[in-house]
Amino acid sequence: MTGNSESEKVSGGCLCGAVRYELEPPLRPVVACHCLRCRRATGHYVSATAVPRERFHLIESDALKWYRSSPHAERGFCGVCGSNLFWSAHGRDTISIMAGSIDGETGLRTVAHICVAQKGDYYDLNPSEPQYQAGDYPSPWSS
Ligand SMILES: [Zn+2]
Ligand SMILES: [Zn+2]
Repeated sequence: MTGNSESEKVSGGCLCGAVRYELEPPLRPVVACHCLRCRRATGHYVSATAVPRERFHLIESDALKWYRSSPHAERGFCGVCGSNLFWSAHGRDTISIMAGSIDGETGLRTVAHICVAQKGDYYDLNPSEPQYQAGDYPSPWSS
């Protein structure tokens, strides 16, 4: 399988399988966030795709927990195995999904690294992938 066609649903879930979801393509290209909250929450940094909420479907969610990590956003994770899965900002019409939780190949590319002013000192970024010091970046939906 190479990537996702427009009609094919994309599935994914946590390490233990207690949380499973489906996404209806097209998916946003991947944005990597290096802010301190993302680094703490994941142990490294966040690489996430996104879809409009109406194209996000929870299939198995009994173990899904939400943690309010800032006044304006919550992070979804599996209460059994601890996998980081989702990031949901209040008032946004999209929900972010950790790219590593998607089953198989994603067909996605990383189009932006954001909040790199807060990145860890123990890794380097691919210089061919655009970097932004703060959280503002051009919308990747069209690329
Ligand atoms: Zn799990
Ligand atoms: Zn972040």
